[in-house]
Amino acid sequence: MSLIPKDDGRNAGDSGGKKWVRLSTDKPALIQLLADSTTVIWKHWLPQALNPSGKRGTSIVCPGGLKGECPICKSNKNLADHTKEGKKHNDYLRAQKRFVVPVIEFELEKVCPSCETVYAASTVTCTNCGTDLPEKGTWKPYSRLLEGARAFFEQLELVLSATTDIDGNQVDVKSIPILLKSKMIEGEGGVIRRTTVPIIQQPLKVDISEVVPLSIEDAYTIYTEREIKHLVAGGGLQGIFDARKDGGEYEIEEKEVPQVDSSDSLSYFQ
Ligand SMILES: [Zn+2]
Ligand SMILES: [Zn+2]
Repeated sequence: MSLIPKDDGRNAGDSGGKKWVRLSTDKPALIQLLADSTTVIWKHWLPQALNPSGKRGTSIVCPGGLKGECPICKSNKNLADHTKEGKKHNDYLRAQKRFVVPVIEFELEKVCPSCETVYAASTVTCTNCGTDLPEKGTWKPYSRLLEGARAFFEQLELVLSATTDIDGNQVDVKSIPILLKSKMIEGEGGVIRRTTVPIIQQPLKVDISEVVPLSIEDAYTIYTEREIKHLVAGGGLQGIFDARKDGGEYEIEEKEVPQVDSSDSLSYFQ
């Protein structure tokens, strides 16, 4: 009998603690689609909201149409209706269209042959028991979500539609590993932004039959009207998390909305 499963929760359907594929210029991501279409979500960027890290600015999924009404969309409508310049008003928090798809993300890992601790592929020795790790890492599949803007998914679609087998037949897009390589480029007006290029890879010898797609509905936190008002007024996410855990109420901050360093709010869009 064993009370603890051998894989200790790190099975193929596990996200490994991460729900979203992180696109960064440090390291390309290797993914495979688990669906052949994306789901549209809308997000508001709230420059005033306080992150647990102490920085201001967070993006939230617009609850409009999902789980009730959105106080931001309601306020946007008022601003746009009542003034010509409403859409340029600081309080007008436009919603950005985002696309999401469940994917497998492959990570190169090494597992200690003695104690089964998992390490990044660059690790040489197990810090837990001192055993030498295998020379080469192995690909581990994780169930995650890939979120991006329309331009990114349009490019991905273009690359996938041009991928055929040796007879010229369209291949199942869910059977091809895709390397997502990101770099910073200078766009219009000298704005530096991240761009990600998808590169088709050869199939990996990894068993993915057990991977269960992550639920998009469950992955994103949907805030209530009261919680959104708290965030818009410069309140913190931590207060909401704590209140949700205790089943209690958080303090709605009455103080004036603080001035925001505009550099903070750029990070999401890069
Ligand atoms: Zn909204
Ligand atoms: Zn070990």
